[in-house]
Amino acid sequence: MGLLDLDKIIIKRTILGIRCSACGGNLAATTTKSMRARLIRWLSLGSVKPKNYECEQCRKRYLLL
Ligand SMILES: [Zn+2]
Repeated sequence: MGLLDLDKIIIKRTILGIRCSACGGNLAATTTKSMRARLIRWLSLGSVKPKNYECEQCRKRYLLL
């Protein structure tokens, strides 16, 4: 169960310095991999690792390269 707790911490971790452009809320990293993120990673042969972020307030999703 330790691994599960670690996942929660990673999901809840707030990325400092990155703000939602829509509402100014905090962006939290999400572990869910979108199709777009997977495609970019595949096209770049693994050299680019896109990260997904989600706004804690308006739930807007961001993809950081
Ligand atoms: Zn927002």
